Amino acid sequence: MRVPFIDLKSQNEFIKDEINTAIKDVIDCCAFAGGPFVEKFEKEFADFCQCREAIGVGSGTAALWLSLLALGIGSGDEVITVPNTFIATAEAISFCGAKPVFVDIDEHSYNMDPLLLENAITPKTKAIIPVHLNGQMADMDPIMEIAKRHNLFVVEDACQAHGAEYKKKKAGSIGHAGCFSFYPGKNLGAFGEAGAVVTNDKSLADRIRMMRDHGQNKKYIHAEIGWNSRMDGIQGAVLSVKLKHLESWNKLRQKHADIYDRMLADIDQIVTPHQVENRSHIYHIYPIRNKNRDALIEVLREKDIHCGIHYPVPIHLQKAYWNQESDNGHFPVTEQVTSELISLPMFPELTDSMIKIVCKEIEKWSSNVSS
Ligand SMILES: *Cc1c(COP(=O)(O)O)cnc(C)c1O
Repeated sequence: MRVPFIDLKSQNEFIKDEINTAIKDVIDCCAFAGGPFVEKFEKEFADFCQCREAIGVGSGTAALWLSLLALGIGSGDEVITVPNTFIATAEAISFCGAKPVFVDIDEHSYNMDPLLLENAITPKTKAIIPVHLNGQMADMDPIMEIAKRHNLFVVEDACQAHGAEYKKKKAGSIGHAGCFSFYPGKNLGAFGEAGAVVTNDKSLADRIRMMRDHGQNKKYIHAEIGWNSRMDGIQGAVLSVKLKHLESWNKLRQKHADIYDRMLADIDQIVTPHQVENRSHIYHIYPIRNKNRDALIEVLREKDIHCGIHYPVPIHLQKAYWNQESDNGHFPVTEQVTSELISLPMFPELTDSMIKIVCKEIEKWSSNVSS
C-alpha cells in the first residue's frame, strides 16, 4: 500500500461542499484582495489564538518580516533565532537589514535551548524569534523572562504550531507578536499562499495593517513606505471553513503520534519525538531519529512509504548564509540532530493500517541492521 507523506486531496474531498460555497460567495461579492472575508477570518483566528488582534497577510514569511519591521528592527540590529528552522525565519531578519544570530537547540524538544540564549545577547540585539518547530512550542517562560530583563521583543514563529499550547496558552499569544503560515501543507492550510500575525498590542496591529497595504491608512494616503502583502479574499474564506475543523484535525494527528510512539518504542535505533510536559504538541511533523537515516528513507521509499527531512541543512551551513560576515559559529546539537531526522507520514486522514505498515517496515529494517 502506498503511504504518502501528506494527502491534501482526501482533506479537500471531506470539506468540498463547504469550500465551494465559500469560494462562490467571494466571487459573487468580488472581494478578492483583503475585504470582508479576510476580516471575518481575522476575528475568528484572533479568538482561536486567544489574542486581541489578527492581521491576514500574504505568507508566513511576510508575517515574520512585517512584524519585525513594525517593531522597528532594521540595519545594525541583531535578532536571535535557531539554526534548525525553515529558511524563512532567517530571511525575514535579513530582509529587514538586521543580522540573524543563532543559538543551538535542545536535543529533546528540538527547540531553542534557553540556557544558551543569554550568551548570544549583545548591545545590538533587538528581538528573539523562538520557533515552535514541528508543532511543539519552545520553552517560552525562560525566553520571555530573559527578553524582559534585556528589553527585547519576542516574535513567535508559530508557522508550524496552529493551536499548540504552552501551559494552556496558545501559540502566538505569549510573545509581542505571533506569526503563522497557511501554506497548503501546514496544519491549517489555504488554497494558495497566506499568513497572519496575531498580537495583543493594538498599535502594533495597526502598524502591520498599514504596512501590508503600502503604508496607507486611507486610500492613496501613505504615512510610510510599506509593501503589498494583503491576504486574498478567497484564502480568507477557505481558512474560515478549515479553521472550524482544525481542532479535530490536530486531535487526529495526536492520535496517530500515539500509535507511532507505541509501535516504535521498543526499537533501539529509533528515537521518537519527546513530548515535553505542559505543552500540547500538534504534530505538524512526526520526526524520528536514526543514525543511518538515508538508508532507512531509501528502504521505506522502495516500499512506497514516503518520508521527508525537516531540515537536511541547518541555516548556518546553507550557502545563502555561510558567507555572511556574521561569525555563524558551530551548533553541535543542531548539526547532530539534523543529520539523523526523518519525518514520517503525518496528516489527519492517515489510517491506522498505514501507520502499522510504516512501523512494521521500520522494525524489519532495524532487526536486519542489528543482526
Ligand atoms: C512554513 C514556515 C515559514 C514560512 O511560511 P510561508 O507561508 O511558506 O512563507 C516560516 N517559518 C517556519 C518555521 C515555517 O515552517
